[in-house]
Amino acid sequence: MNTSKRHPVPTPVVKAFCIALLFVNAGAAYFMTTYNAEIDRTMIGNILNTDQREMLQIWHPKLLLQILLLAVLPSLFIARAEITKPRWFIRLGSIILVLVALIAWAYATAFTWLWFDKHAPRLGGRVLPWSYIANTARYFNQAALAGRSQTLLPDATFLAPVPTGQKDIVVLVIGEASRAQDYAYYGYGRDTNPFTKNTGLVAFPAGQSCATYTIGSVACILTHEGSAASDRTGFEPLNSYLTRFGVQTIFRTNNFGEPPIKVDEYTRAADIVAGCKGSDCPAPEYDEALVWGLTDELTKSTANRIFVTLHEAGSHGPSYWRKYPPAFEEFKPVCDTVEVATCSHESLVNAYDNSIRYTDYVNAKLIEALKAVPNARVAMIYVSDHGQSLGENGLYLHGAPNAVAPQTQRLVPFLVWMSDSFQAAHGVTAQSILREETKPHDFPFHSIMGAFGMRSAIYKPEYDIFAKPVQ
Ligand SMILES: [Zn+2]
Repeated sequence: MNTSKRHPVPTPVVKAFCIALLFVNAGAAYFMTTYNAEIDRTMIGNILNTDQREMLQIWHPKLLLQILLLAVLPSLFIARAEITKPRWFIRLGSIILVLVALIAWAYATAFTWLWFDKHAPRLGGRVLPWSYIANTARYFNQAALAGRSQTLLPDATFLAPVPTGQKDIVVLVIGEASRAQDYAYYGYGRDTNPFTKNTGLVAFPAGQSCATYTIGSVACILTHEGSAASDRTGFEPLNSYLTRFGVQTIFRTNNFGEPPIKVDEYTRAADIVAGCKGSDCPAPEYDEALVWGLTDELTKSTANRIFVTLHEAGSHGPSYWRKYPPAFEEFKPVCDTVEVATCSHESLVNAYDNSIRYTDYVNAKLIEALKAVPNARVAMIYVSDHGQSLGENGLYLHGAPNAVAPQTQRLVPFLVWMSDSFQAAHGVTAQSILREETKPHDFPFHSIMGAFGMRSAIYKPEYDIFAKPVQ
């Protein structure tokens, strides 16, 4: 084997790959500029599922010109280029040099990180060739996940039928980036919980979230494995389980990241308020939209067991000031830029606290809406998916690995509300359900089963906060 440094290395595979990328890039760039499209996972799905005849309609002479300029000409250059193999230490040196330069550049431009973080979901669809390579992989991964056979949970029974003319309603609110530290309920120096103060809402001690990112925590909340679950758990999630055993399931969302679920009704906030006609309709970007029309829907439902999940936008960063209506700007001045590192810590905390206070308002609205449903025994659980960093120790947002994540990203509130009729039916009170220690992501699954009087082999009574304490 000759490895002398000037010996041309035949690399037809690498060259063919680069040339193929050039051609796809040229076509993709044309598609993006002409149709103002982003090549995200959904778009790849559209392209792969599009009828061939429809694809032909995209052809235009301009596309040929673009392919000639952006693909054919540079391909000629690549095809003719002579590639030499340098000595190993030159190669190693180059790799180290490039890595050091990249890291130095990343740190020199650290002020742009938050901008990238905010726009990351949309940037991926605009960067070639990343957009179609990563999103094609994501498309097939998603298809594989959706097609993967789920392990069904064991058959379940109900302890007793719902009395005639009554309804059992259980509501799970999944909050977003709502850290316990900024709750008045947990001793915060500011009144961030004025709206639920007199509603009978029970604040359990703050507890540790499963993960510090939405997908991991939501998967965990919705599986019977709780904190022992992985974010790719193959077990049937709570919503699907309840649907399969005859509970009417409603999922209202202003967020993303839940596992594949089977529910009777899945609605995004914008579609919920689309039906609202009048001057006091909530804007779809605010979480109050999730509660709109709920009393009416629950009252009209003919089901006697109903499970509602609300997945909030909560305090998703970094634009906290956009998470609440202007009238809720209680703490001022607020940081109103996504470049949060340029804001004073105080103004960032102000904006964040306003979003926490607004979440408290939404909880109060929800309790009001649930109280207005006639003849219903209602329980509501609010839990956040994870906490948030607001610049403490130089950290912002969330997503730190559990091993090093600060408590601000892990400690979440766990709040419970029960109607009087629910308390009577279950023989519990606000005081009797309280625990010394909260497992915020283990409790919901088993407590919701408990609230419906549902039992099966996977039910863990120790995690059911509504179970009567053993005498
Ligand atoms: Zn989250």
